[in-house]
Amino acid sequence: MADIKKDIRALTKDQIREFFVKNGDKSFRGNQVYEWLWQRGIHSFEEMTNISKETRQMMENHFVINHIKVDQMQRSSDGTIKNAIKLHDNLIVESVLIPTATRTTACVSSQVGCSLDCKFCATSRLKRMRNLNPDEIYDQVVVIDNESRLYHDRPLSNIVFMGMGEPLMNYNNVLKAIDKITSPEGLGMSPKRIVVSTSGVPKMIKKMADDNVKFKLAVSLHSAIDEVRDTIMPFNKTFPLKDLRESLVYWYEKTKNRITYEYVVWQGINDKRKDVDALVQFCKFAPSKVNIIEYNPIDDGMFQQADSLAIDMYRDILEANNITVTIRRSRGKDIDAACGQLANKK
Ligand code: SAH
Repeated sequence: MADIKKDIRALTKDQIREFFVKNGDKSFRGNQVYEWLWQRGIHSFEEMTNISKETRQMMENHFVINHIKVDQMQRSSDGTIKNAIKLHDNLIVESVLIPTATRTTACVSSQVGCSLDCKFCATSRLKRMRNLNPDEIYDQVVVIDNESRLYHDRPLSNIVFMGMGEPLMNYNNVLKAIDKITSPEGLGMSPKRIVVSTSGVPKMIKKMADDNVKFKLAVSLHSAIDEVRDTIMPFNKTFPLKDLRESLVYWYEKTKNRITYEYVVWQGINDKRKDVDALVQFCKFAPSKVNIIEYNPIDDGMFQQADSLAIDMYRDILEANNITVTIRRSRGKDIDAACGQLANKK
């Protein structure tokens, strides 16, 4: 049976150096190859032009480079770009470039599909197929950085893990990808410009605090009342708000970082005074920011964006309690690129 070749990018720099030494070359060759792989983002061994043909062939005999491919790119009238990304096993994920006046943000996926079951999210209808590897996450960022330079004349400035999947259910690979993104040997981006968004996995939030991570955390809360959250995010029955809050208290005590909550207000679901009061009670233990995001319909009669009176009520009460509020407009709706719309529709 033919050996399945390993992706060379699953190896650390030291492992690549060792490989060359074992094969009678210098460890320095490993540094050169590592630079081609990560700083220059090449897709094939052939492109390593300062490496001899024989050495390239030797690498080819042992390894593959499973670079992601942009299968389809769509551009919205507001400048948003959505990429359908084909993985080496032909599965598809999506990533989005979101430009504003001052920044370009990459919204990247961490899993193919999602194991959670948020009723308002299109991705939840695709069952989780597998986790993305660190290099598959990293490559999405490189693709968007290149698009940002090409179409907006500036490099990528921010990254949000708000694409497909639950990043904390693929924590190790997300962490490895962020290490590469922030390392001078990768893209050298500041971790402060990276937000990992979670629907709230308490054990993993505590782990992040223990790991002393430097990127930012956002929690998709949507309701601070268990009975409501149970219906819209059924996994809340397994990870109830009490546990989520306890993990956030732990996170804040360790990091002293402000906590950001994402929140959609829906008609008849969480648009009453009691919903806002519960939110204030939930987040007032630490400096907090609530991002009120517009609902992007996913062809489901159950959810409807609340009216502006309800949004104003949220804003006024939160601000009166010293909680920062931002009200975010959707981007890229015309190409199904907005939050919660990523579902490989072509
Ligand atoms: N699983 C992670 C990241 C992916 S979802 C998380 O839950 O945070 C990214 C954000 O989009 C989350 O805040 C999610 O609640 C929100 N979202 C999902 N579906 C949406 C929709 N239809 N309209 C608006 N926001 C949505």
